[in-house]
Amino acid sequence: MLKTHKPAELEYAASPDQSAAAPAHHPVIIVGAGPVGLAAAIDLAVRGVRPVVLDQDSRVSAGSRAVSYAKRTLEILDRLGCGDAVVRRGVAWSHGRVFLRERQIFSFNLTTDEGHRRPPFVNLQQYHLEEILIARARELKLVDLRWQHCVRGVEAADDRATLTVETPDGPYQMSCDWLVAADGARSTVRSALDLPLQTSAPGDRFLTADVVMKAEFPSERWFWFDPPFHPNRSVLLHRQADDVWRIEFQLGPEADADEERKPESVIARVKAMLGDEREFELESVEVYAFGCGRMDSFRHGRILFAGDAAHRVAPFGARGANSGIQDADNLAWKLALVLARPRAGAVAGPPPARRRV
Ligand SMILES: Cc1cc2nc3c(=O)[nH]c(=O)nc-3n(C[C@H](O)[C@H](O)[C@H](O)COP(=O)(O)OP(=O)(O)OC[C@H]3O[C@@H](n4cnc5c(N)ncnc54)[C@H](O)[C@@H]3O)c2cc1C
Repeated sequence: MLKTHKPAELEYAASPDQSAAAPAHHPVIIVGAGPVGLAAAIDLAVRGVRPVVLDQDSRVSAGSRAVSYAKRTLEILDRLGCGDAVVRRGVAWSHGRVFLRERQIFSFNLTTDEGHRRPPFVNLQQYHLEEILIARARELKLVDLRWQHCVRGVEAADDRATLTVETPDGPYQMSCDWLVAADGARSTVRSALDLPLQTSAPGDRFLTADVVMKAEFPSERWFWFDPPFHPNRSVLLHRQADDVWRIEFQLGPEADADEERKPESVIARVKAMLGDEREFELESVEVYAFGCGRMDSFRHGRILFAGDAAHRVAPFGARGANSGIQDADNLAWKLALVLARPRAGAVAGPPPARRRV
């Protein structure tokens, strides 16, 4: 039985831009309210910029996505005013164990010295992270968050980008000095501009199961090679918030994704691992293939790509959201400085008083 997390509906609201006689113009528009778009928006707002954020959806991300956030990301979230909420809601960990079959062959502790404000990693479901970021963006008041505003087209000019946006009330257009494309791995902005992503061939397939259960296992990262319950392959176990556990089963490149994501087949794999006695419910199940991709350049004139839109990595290794939030951290202060610069040809202030000679 799938026990999918049901986040609150993010309500559509019409913007005055939709009824404007001419396309409204904004300093920055961000496409995508995933972790990266939201982090960029908060960072800009903290610096006094008023970004517009467009997202096609009316809910935060669903299903099995990011879990582990590294200390560097937590430091950025601290700066954005969200670190405490993420650490409070999540599960801090620093220990890991690696098993070959049933024997532990390696263990590590990522806390090598004392005095760090944050743990090496915090595990938290991506939907909770996004909820925290949305709450912070709202609190800052400068972020114009627009749900069910789906970008359908983009035109790039030397000094601006113009967007066509679809809403429940119909389409509208608007433009901006800078467009941040944080619209994920299947980026509409990238496709609209016909920009390629250099990709590697998809490799191994993995089954990701988020399982709700009461378990006494410690909050550690456990990794098995060739365990008896899943021979010849690997398995990973991670604790998340609310007694949700992430279990990842390596399936091999030939696995049939449709068969593997059927609840009966997932339950059989989980029971083989945890035993028949353990009570659990499936929260979400996903099958994904390892694959990477990257744009040659993340800047195309006035359009800046960040997060999965710019570079896609295999989920294993906790790199996607971490590196994407670090993109936002790298981008926002530079963009805020560029926006603060007087425009070419603009009059900076009153002309100097004429001196009598
Ligand atoms: C199984 C799994 C496990 C993972 N584990 C980790 C982990 O532990 N740690 C980690 O760091 N990363 C992990 N990742 C990767 C992480 O989920 C992604 O890297 C992250 O979501 C990227 O964020 P993003 O904001 O760039 O894109 P997304 O989260 O994809 O957000 C893009 C947003 O853009 C919106 N959008 C798309 N198109 C349009 C459009 N045309 N108009 C308007 N809005 C649009 C979407 O609705 C969405 O809200 C994992 C991924 C998977 C699948």
